[in-house]
Amino acid sequence: MARRGLLIILSSPSGAGKSTLARRLMAWDPGLRFSVSATTRPPRAGEKDGREYYFVDEAAFKAMVRDGAMLEHAQVFGNYYGSPSGPVETAISAGRDVLFDIDWQGGQQIRNSALGKHTLAIFILPPSIRELERRLRERDQDSDEIIAERMQKSWDEISHWDGYDYVLVNDNLDETEERLKTIITAERLRRSQQPDLLDHVRALQDEFEERS
Ligand code: ADP
Ligand code: 5GP
Repeated sequence: MARRGLLIILSSPSGAGKSTLARRLMAWDPGLRFSVSATTRPPRAGEKDGREYYFVDEAAFKAMVRDGAMLEHAQVFGNYYGSPSGPVETAISAGRDVLFDIDWQGGQQIRNSALGKHTLAIFILPPSIRELERRLRERDQDSDEIIAERMQKSWDEISHWDGYDYVLVNDNLDETEERLKTIITAERLRRSQQPDLLDHVRALQDEFEERS
Protein backbone atom coordinates (compact mmCIF):
# COMPACT_ATOMS: atom_id res chain seq x y z
CA MET A 1 0.00 0.00 0.00
CA ALA A 2 1.21 3.50 -0.78
CA ARG A 3 2.63 5.53 2.06
CA ARG A 4 3.03 9.25 2.55
CA GLY A 5 6.62 10.33 3.17
CA LEU A 6 7.57 11.46 6.67
CA LEU A 7 9.85 14.39 7.44
CA ILE A 8 12.05 13.03 10.22
CA ILE A 9 13.80 15.79 12.16
CA LEU A 10 16.78 14.99 14.38
CA SER A 11 18.05 17.77 16.63
CA SER A 12 20.46 17.91 19.54
CA PRO A 13 23.19 20.07 20.97
CA SER A 14 26.33 19.76 18.87
CA GLY A 15 28.24 16.61 19.85
CA ALA A 16 25.31 14.59 21.27
CA GLY A 17 25.50 12.16 18.35
CA LYS A 18 22.84 13.06 15.80
CA SER A 19 25.09 12.86 12.70
CA THR A 20 26.35 9.44 13.81
CA LEU A 21 22.77 8.28 14.35
CA ALA A 22 21.65 9.77 11.03
CA ARG A 23 24.40 7.84 9.23
CA ARG A 24 23.30 4.61 10.92
CA LEU A 25 19.67 5.22 9.94
CA MET A 26 20.68 5.83 6.32
CA ALA A 27 22.57 2.52 6.31
CA TRP A 28 19.57 0.75 7.87
CA ASP A 29 17.06 1.94 5.29
CA PRO A 30 18.41 2.76 1.83
CA GLY A 31 14.95 4.15 0.98
CA LEU A 32 15.48 7.04 3.39
CA ARG A 33 16.61 10.30 1.83
CA PHE A 34 19.00 12.55 3.74
CA SER A 35 18.28 16.24 3.34
CA VAL A 36 21.66 17.72 2.41
CA SER A 37 21.68 21.24 3.82
CA ALA A 38 23.38 24.26 2.34
CA THR A 39 25.75 26.07 4.68
CA THR A 40 28.18 28.97 4.68
CA ARG A 41 30.44 27.21 7.21
CA PRO A 42 33.73 25.92 5.79
CA PRO A 43 34.01 22.14 5.23
CA ARG A 44 35.64 20.00 7.95
CA ALA A 45 38.33 17.49 7.06
CA GLY A 46 36.69 14.60 5.22
CA GLU A 47 33.48 16.45 4.36
CA LYS A 48 32.52 16.42 0.71
CA ASP A 49 30.47 19.03 -1.11
CA GLY A 50 27.02 17.60 -1.89
CA ARG A 51 27.36 14.75 0.63
CA GLU A 52 27.39 16.26 4.15
CA TYR A 53 26.50 19.76 2.97
CA TYR A 54 26.42 22.02 -0.04
CA PHE A 55 29.15 24.49 0.88
CA VAL A 56 28.13 27.89 -0.48
CA ASP A 57 29.07 31.50 0.09
CA GLU A 58 26.79 33.98 1.78
CA ALA A 59 25.62 35.55 -1.49
CA ALA A 60 24.57 32.17 -2.93
CA PHE A 61 22.85 31.25 0.34
CA LYS A 62 20.89 34.48 0.47
CA ALA A 63 19.89 34.08 -3.18
CA MET A 64 18.41 30.64 -2.38
CA VAL A 65 16.41 32.12 0.50
CA ARG A 66 15.23 35.02 -1.67
CA ASP A 67 14.15 32.65 -4.43
CA GLY A 68 12.04 30.63 -1.98
CA ALA A 69 14.29 27.59 -2.50
CA MET A 70 14.69 26.86 1.25
CA LEU A 71 12.19 24.89 3.29
CA GLU A 72 13.73 26.43 6.40
CA HIS A 73 16.90 28.27 7.28
CA ALA A 74 18.66 29.63 10.35
CA GLN A 75 21.85 31.12 11.63
CA VAL A 76 23.76 28.69 13.87
CA PHE A 77 27.16 29.42 15.45
CA GLY A 78 27.50 32.48 13.21
CA ASN A 79 26.98 30.58 9.94
CA TYR A 80 23.90 30.15 7.78
CA TYR A 81 22.33 26.74 7.35
CA GLY A 82 19.24 25.80 5.35
CA SER A 83 17.34 22.84 3.87
CA PRO A 84 16.75 23.12 0.10
CA SER A 85 13.08 22.41 -0.55
CA GLY A 86 13.27 20.84 -4.04
CA PRO A 87 14.72 17.44 -3.08
CA VAL A 88 12.38 17.21 -0.08
CA GLU A 89 9.27 17.77 -2.19
CA THR A 90 10.43 15.23 -4.78
CA ALA A 91 11.09 12.59 -2.12
CA ILE A 92 7.90 13.16 -0.16
CA SER A 93 5.67 13.02 -3.22
CA ALA A 94 7.32 9.70 -4.15
CA GLY A 95 6.37 8.37 -0.68
CA ARG A 96 9.92 8.49 0.65
CA ASP A 97 10.91 9.65 4.12
CA VAL A 98 13.41 12.47 4.46
CA LEU A 99 15.85 12.74 7.36
CA PHE A 100 16.91 16.20 8.58
CA ASP A 101 19.89 16.89 10.86
CA ILE A 102 18.92 20.44 11.78
CA ASP A 103 18.68 22.71 14.82
CA TRP A 104 15.55 23.62 16.80
CA GLN A 105 14.91 26.76 14.74
CA GLY A 106 14.71 24.72 11.54
CA GLY A 107 12.62 22.04 13.24
CA GLN A 108 10.13 24.65 14.37
CA GLN A 109 9.90 26.21 10.88
CA ILE A 110 9.19 22.83 9.25
CA ARG A 111 6.58 22.00 11.89
CA ASN A 112 4.83 25.30 11.17
CA SER A 113 4.96 24.77 7.40
CA ALA A 114 2.37 23.11 5.15
CA LEU A 115 4.27 19.83 5.65
CA GLY A 116 3.98 20.13 9.44
CA LYS A 117 1.46 17.36 9.91
CA HIS A 118 3.82 14.85 8.31
CA THR A 119 6.79 15.58 10.57
CA LEU A 120 8.31 13.35 13.21
CA ALA A 121 10.61 15.37 15.46
CA ILE A 122 13.15 13.62 17.68
CA PHE A 123 15.51 15.30 20.10
CA ILE A 124 18.76 13.68 21.23
CA LEU A 125 20.08 14.53 24.69
CA PRO A 126 23.58 13.70 25.93
CA PRO A 127 23.86 11.65 29.15
CA SER A 128 25.71 14.59 30.77
CA ILE A 129 27.28 17.92 29.86
CA ARG A 130 30.70 16.51 30.73
CA GLU A 131 30.16 13.66 28.24
CA LEU A 132 28.95 16.15 25.61
CA GLU A 133 32.25 18.00 25.88
CA ARG A 134 34.20 14.75 25.80
CA ARG A 135 32.45 13.76 22.55
CA LEU A 136 33.10 17.14 20.95
CA ARG A 137 36.79 16.79 21.81
CA GLU A 138 36.91 13.14 20.73
CA ARG A 139 35.44 14.09 17.35
CA ASP A 140 38.62 16.10 16.98
CA GLN A 141 37.37 18.16 14.07
CA ASP A 142 37.02 21.58 15.61
CA SER A 143 39.47 23.97 17.25
CA ASP A 144 39.36 24.57 21.03
CA GLU A 145 37.75 27.91 20.35
CA ILE A 146 34.94 26.38 18.27
CA ILE A 147 34.41 23.61 20.84
CA ALA A 148 34.11 26.22 23.60
CA GLU A 149 31.58 28.14 21.53
CA ARG A 150 29.52 25.00 20.86
CA MET A 151 29.56 24.06 24.54
CA GLN A 152 28.40 27.52 25.42
CA LYS A 153 25.47 27.33 22.99
CA SER A 154 24.53 23.78 23.98
CA TRP A 155 22.09 24.94 26.65
CA ASP A 156 20.23 27.10 24.17
CA GLU A 157 19.61 24.02 21.99
CA ILE A 158 18.79 21.73 24.95
CA SER A 159 16.24 24.23 26.27
CA HIS A 160 14.03 23.41 23.24
CA TRP A 161 13.82 19.70 24.04
CA ASP A 162 10.12 19.91 24.90
CA GLY A 163 9.09 20.97 21.39
CA TYR A 164 9.80 17.45 20.06
CA ASP A 165 7.62 14.33 19.74
CA TYR A 166 10.28 12.01 21.17
CA VAL A 167 13.35 12.63 23.32
CA LEU A 168 16.14 10.07 23.58
CA VAL A 169 19.13 10.14 25.90
CA ASN A 170 22.02 8.94 23.75
CA ASP A 171 24.00 7.03 26.30
CA ASN A 172 24.55 3.68 24.61
CA LEU A 173 24.79 4.28 20.86
CA ASP A 174 23.41 0.88 19.77
CA GLU A 175 20.45 1.22 22.10
CA THR A 176 19.63 4.72 20.86
CA GLU A 177 19.85 3.49 17.28
CA GLU A 178 17.39 0.65 18.04
CA ARG A 179 14.99 3.07 19.72
CA LEU A 180 15.11 5.40 16.75
CA LYS A 181 14.31 2.55 14.37
CA THR A 182 11.38 1.49 16.55
CA ILE A 183 9.98 5.03 16.59
CA ILE A 184 10.30 5.42 12.82
CA THR A 185 8.74 2.02 12.13
CA ALA A 186 5.75 2.85 14.33
CA GLU A 187 5.28 6.37 12.96
CA ARG A 188 5.21 5.05 9.41
CA LEU A 189 2.11 3.07 10.38
CA ARG A 190 0.11 6.06 11.55
CA ARG A 191 -3.24 6.34 9.83
CA SER A 192 -2.32 9.81 8.53
CA GLN A 193 0.70 8.32 6.71
CA GLN A 194 -1.33 5.68 4.88
CA PRO A 195 -3.55 7.43 2.33
CA ASP A 196 -4.71 4.17 0.70
CA LEU A 197 -6.20 2.76 3.89
CA LEU A 198 -9.62 4.22 3.15
CA ASP A 199 -9.79 2.40 -0.20
CA HIS A 200 -8.68 -0.80 1.47
CA VAL A 201 -11.35 -0.55 4.15
CA ARG A 202 -13.97 0.18 1.46
CA ALA A 203 -12.87 -2.92 -0.44
CA LEU A 204 -13.16 -4.93 2.79
CA GLN A 205 -16.64 -3.52 3.28
CA ASP A 206 -17.72 -4.46 -0.27
CA GLU A 207 -16.41 -7.97 0.22
CA PHE A 208 -18.10 -8.21 3.59
CA GLU A 209 -21.46 -7.06 2.20
CA GLU A 210 -21.27 -9.43 -0.76
CA ARG A 211 -21.16 -12.32 1.68
CA SER A 212 -24.31 -11.31 3.53
P1 ADP B 1 26.48 15.76 16.41
O1 ADP B 1 26.13 15.40 15.00
O2 ADP B 1 25.28 15.73 17.32
O3 ADP B 1 27.25 17.04 16.52
P2 ADP B 1 28.32 13.47 16.26
O4 ADP B 1 27.41 12.43 15.68
O5 ADP B 1 29.34 14.09 15.37
O6 ADP B 1 27.44 14.61 17.00
O7 ADP B 1 29.02 12.78 17.53
C1 ADP B 1 30.04 13.45 18.27
C2 ADP B 1 31.07 12.41 18.72
O8 ADP B 1 30.50 11.55 19.72
C3 ADP B 1 31.54 11.50 17.59
O9 ADP B 1 32.93 11.27 17.75
C4 ADP B 1 30.75 10.20 17.81
O10 ADP B 1 31.44 9.07 17.35
C5 ADP B 1 30.59 10.19 19.33
N1 ADP B 1 29.35 9.53 19.82
C6 ADP B 1 28.10 9.63 19.32
N2 ADP B 1 27.22 8.92 20.07
C7 ADP B 1 27.93 8.33 21.06
C8 ADP B 1 27.61 7.46 22.18
N3 ADP B 1 26.36 7.05 22.41
N4 ADP B 1 28.61 7.07 22.99
C9 ADP B 1 29.88 7.50 22.78
N5 ADP B 1 30.26 8.31 21.76
C10 ADP B 1 29.31 8.73 20.90
P1 5GP C 1 27.62 21.40 12.14
O1 5GP C 1 28.31 22.69 11.81
O2 5GP C 1 28.13 20.74 13.39
O3 5GP C 1 27.53 20.45 10.98
O4 5GP C 1 26.09 21.80 12.47
C1 5GP C 1 25.82 22.78 13.43
C2 5GP C 1 24.34 22.81 13.74
O5 5GP C 1 23.59 23.25 12.60
C3 5GP C 1 23.75 21.44 14.11
O6 5GP C 1 22.87 21.62 15.22
C4 5GP C 1 22.98 21.04 12.88
O7 5GP C 1 21.90 20.19 13.19
C5 5GP C 1 22.48 22.40 12.42
N1 5GP C 1 22.09 22.38 10.99
C6 5GP C 1 22.68 21.70 9.98
N2 5GP C 1 22.03 21.91 8.83
C7 5GP C 1 20.98 22.72 9.11
C8 5GP C 1 19.92 23.28 8.34
O8 5GP C 1 19.78 23.06 7.14
N3 5GP C 1 19.04 24.06 8.99
C9 5GP C 1 19.13 24.32 10.33
N4 5GP C 1 18.18 25.09 10.86
N5 5GP C 1 20.11 23.82 11.09
C10 5GP C 1 21.03 23.03 10.49
